[in-house]
Formats: sequence, C-alpha cells, structure tokens
Amino acid sequence: MFASASLPERFREAYARYEQRMIREVMVKAAWVLLVVSVFAHSSILIRGGSLIEADTLWSYGLRVPPLAVCLITLVMHYRRFPGHLWPLVMLRLISLTAMSSVLGLLVFAYDQGGTAFRVLSELAILSVFCAGLVSLRGLRGCVIPLFLPVLCYIAVMIQRGHEPLALVASQLGLLSAIGIAAFVSHLQLRIRVREFIARQELNEISTVDPLTGLMNRRAMVARLESERARHNRFTQAFAVIMLDLDLFKRVNDTLGHQAGDQVLREVAARLRANTRQQDDVARWGGEEFLILLPDTDEKGATAATNNIRAALRNAPITTLDTSLNQTASFGIAVYDNRESTERLVARAGQALHMAKECGRNRAVVA
Ligand code: GH3
Ligand code: MG
Ligand code: MG
Repeated sequence: MFASASLPERFREAYARYEQRMIREVMVKAAWVLLVVSVFAHSSILIRGGSLIEADTLWSYGLRVPPLAVCLITLVMHYRRFPGHLWPLVMLRLISLTAMSSVLGLLVFAYDQGGTAFRVLSELAILSVFCAGLVSLRGLRGCVIPLFLPVLCYIAVMIQRGHEPLALVASQLGLLSAIGIAAFVSHLQLRIRVREFIARQELNEISTVDPLTGLMNRRAMVARLESERARHNRFTQAFAVIMLDLDLFKRVNDTLGHQAGDQVLREVAARLRANTRQQDDVARWGGEEFLILLPDTDEKGATAATNNIRAALRNAPITTLDTSLNQTASFGIAVYDNRESTERLVARAGQALHMAKECGRNRAVVA
C-alpha cells in the first residue's frame, strides 16, 4: 500500500523535497481548473435561469460555494507566497474534498429527482472521482480524505434517507467502479513515480559521487564552485579552496599494494569529511588529490581549516590491511579573488600546492 516505503533511506529527504514541489504545482493547477469549472457552472446556471437540480437555496449554495472559496484562498496563499510547507498538502486535500462533497451532495438531490439531472450528476461524480484520484499524489493513503471519506458519507446519507443499499449499489455501479479504478491508478502512479525518482537519484549519484571514497567527484565540485562564485558575485561573501595532495603516495602502492592504497584514500576522505564544517564541500579531485570548498571563509579561516586537517592526518596513523602508516599531505590554499574564473582559482591553489611540495611537503602554502 505504501509505495514510498520502498525508497532507500538515503533518498527519503530528497524525495520529501521533490514531493513538496510536486504537491505545490498540482495544487495550483487543480485550483485554477476547479475555479474555471466552478465559474463556468455558476454562469451557466445564471444563463439558464436555474439549476438542473432542485434543492433548496441554502443547500444549493452551501454545496457549491466551498470549492470556489477554497480555490480562491489557495491561489491567494500561493501568489502571496504564504510561508510554510505543510499548507499546500492541506489545501490540495481541501480542493478535492470540497469538490467531491459538492458533486456528491448535489447527486443526493439529483438521485431522488431522476432523469437528466441524475445522469448528468452521476457522470460528473465519476469524472470528479478520477480527478481526485489523479491529484491525490500519495497513492491509496492519499485517497482516504479526498475520495473515500466523501463517498462513505454519501452512501451513509443515502441509506439514512431510506434508500435500499442494494438498489443504491446497482444504480451507482459506474461511480463505485470508478472509485476502485481511481484508487488503483493513484497507487500505480505513486509506484511509477517512486521508481523513476530512485532511478534518477541513482544516475545522479553515479555522475556526481566518487565510488571509492563516497565524496563528491570533480564534476560535482566544478558545479559547486560555479554556484559559490555566483553567490559571491551577489552577496560578496569571501570563499576559499584548499587543494591537497597526499605525499609520496606512490610508495604506499608500491610497498603495500593497490588495495592498501585504496584503503588509505578512503580513510583520508573520512578524516577530511570529519574535520571540515557541515557547509564545506570535499571532493576527490583526481587520484590522490582532494579539493575542499570553504564558503564564507577568508585566508585566516582557510589556514585554520588546513591546520585542523593536517593535524587530523598527522595525529593518528592510518591502519591498512596489516600495517599502519603516517600519511601526510601538502596543501595549496587560494581565496577567491574578485571576478576571477573558478578555473583560475583552482589553478592558483594548484600552484600553491606545487610550491608546498617543492618546499619539502607536509605543509601549506597560500596563493
Ligand atoms: P608527491 O608527494 O609528489 O605527490 O608524490 P606521489 O607519490 O604522491 O605522487 P605521484 O603523482 O607520483 O603518485 C600518485 C600516485 O597515486 C600514483 C597512483 O598510483 C596513485 N593513485 C592514484 N589514484 C589511485 C587510486 O584510486 N587508488 C590507489 N591505490 N592509488 C592511486
Ligand atoms: Mg601525491
Ligand atoms: Mg598527485
């Protein structure tokens, strides 16, 4: 029943954000469609000089006004950028709920009236059921409030008004089967959506994550650098990069083997992640080179961050398959200089790193 339960834990947060965006989009479209339909229905009543259904005025307005009001409130909230992220789902549910209640409420009157009014309202109810199923967005669970609840109320009211349940079912077979089909379609839609989302996320992971270390790869870091540069150009906040390269790493491979070398790379990556701030981004730039992006950081901050990382590498040896070793690194630091390209920024960090190597390794140089 719960298709999103098949979502891997690591994708849940991203799916929640995606779902929120989707709910908002569908909410706005549903509100516009229902608004237009309501206005059309009201104007055709005015043109015809009366409704197809004979209900007393209070019921007539009481059933028709809520969907219209909910749509108007929804659109005002949306275009006035009402804060919060829970209300779009509430409004989307209210749109479906009031629309279904309105149609089924009018069907109660049309049922007794029979003839054209009953046929028209029955068809409208079937159509509304499909729409409610389509916009529920959360499969069967999402159908409970906007679909199952009003239909159950409708059946209860009809029985209470003295209609034989079996005769009711027989005369409303179309409506009842539409509910089953709409709920099933809603469930399938959710499953397909979740599957597509997982596939997209996995593709995204493959193209942005380094499989050995789990850090972001060079491609993802290039994109992060560009967005940080754009942020700097808007808000003029300083940012810096640190490029680091493991010292004499070839020796590790040569003496301990490639597998041990891989393990060292994984451990270094974990230490880099553990010794940088949440907002810093760490990437495997290539081979045994890493690039760290430090937002909101000047030269002093970047030097302090580098010292932390150097200490984290120096203070504890790395244990590989059957031995432990002290792996040092050399660092090049560059602070973003107004309006330079990100390629130039990284190149300057690379030159500083090169100088650190020249000066004897296991040290940091500021560009
Ligand atoms: P320097 O201090 O000058 O940087 O010396 P170095 O030995 O670290 O530099 P060099 O560029 O000569 O060697 C880098 C080594 O990194 C060579 C390569 O085999 C190793 N390497 C690159 N990528 C990987 C990887 O994914 N796994 C392992 N095990 N080794 C890698
Ligand atoms: Mg090296
Ligand atoms: Mg290197």
